[in-house]
Amino acid sequence: MPAESAKGRLSSVLRRMLMRRATVSSCEPISACFRLITLEGPALRGVAWVPGQKLQIAMAEPFATRTYTPIEWDASDGRTRILCYVHARGPGGAWVRDVKPGDECDVFGPRGSIDLRATSGPLAIFGDETSIGLAYALSAQYPTRSAALYFELEDMKAGSYVLKHLGLWRATLFEKHMDGAHAEQMEAALPSLAAGGAAFVFAGKAGTVQRLRQSVKLLDVTTPRITTKAYWAPGKVGLD
Ligand SMILES: Cc1cc2nc3c(=O)[nH]c(=O)nc-3n(C[C@H](O)[C@H](O)[C@H](O)COP(=O)(O)OP(=O)(O)OC[C@H]3O[C@@H](n4cnc5c(N)ncnc54)[C@H](O)[C@@H]3O)c2cc1C
Repeated sequence: MPAESAKGRLSSVLRRMLMRRATVSSCEPISACFRLITLEGPALRGVAWVPGQKLQIAMAEPFATRTYTPIEWDASDGRTRILCYVHARGPGGAWVRDVKPGDECDVFGPRGSIDLRATSGPLAIFGDETSIGLAYALSAQYPTRSAALYFELEDMKAGSYVLKHLGLWRATLFEKHMDGAHAEQMEAALPSLAAGGAAFVFAGKAGTVQRLRQSVKLLDVTTPRITTKAYWAPGKVGLD
């Protein structure tokens, strides 16, 4: 048996054993760069989901998955939604762009990623296009905690449109600059949030996550108040 097809068979056996089968029931384009994708199926019923968790979706290539964040999960009907950024550089971007209602996919999870259940006080969530879904899920989970949202964006118009579409009206947006000048502006928001006792979440582009984490540590914010997760990094593939 050729090595490639043996690999493909092993991958599909493992998929059947470990993953949940889901059907894409809707793909809603929201501006040119985002798609809100609904996945449904009996295997998604009865799932214990915590907002902030991740879902890994199997790609066509054996053993390859790409990771997204459920924005909600209806465990009785077996339905979840993910907000995907279409950046068109890898298999995940291509799947997001091309998938259509009726397509099937295999998903692994939901599994732990960001978990704010042990935190209290106001929330300060910093991210980019890939973490807008996370901000939505966390804001919905904690309606009584104020949530200050900050996003670095490549396309301000598209980002602002999707945020409004999701009802996240009060986010502060920063246009991405190659020289990172916008990250300095993001850092400027940290001291007053730290003084107000915020629980910080940094998720999205690895370099920004790392930079903001270092800056907030200098403000004597203790580790339990800081949650970080790099969602992607330039030149890295399928970061998880
Ligand atoms: C826990 C977790 C949760 C996530 N949740 C979401 C989510 O809800 N929605 C979402 O859209 N994404 C989310 N992501 C990010 C997403 O998994 C990555 O963007 C992923 O790399 C996309 O896969 P790809 O095959 O398109 O690109 P890859 O094959 O993984 O990467 C190819 C190249 O594309 C570039 N690249 C990757 N991502 C981006 C990007 N966002 N912007 C610009 N360039 C990029 C990099 O240079 C990389 O080398 C999440 C990631 C993690 C780890």
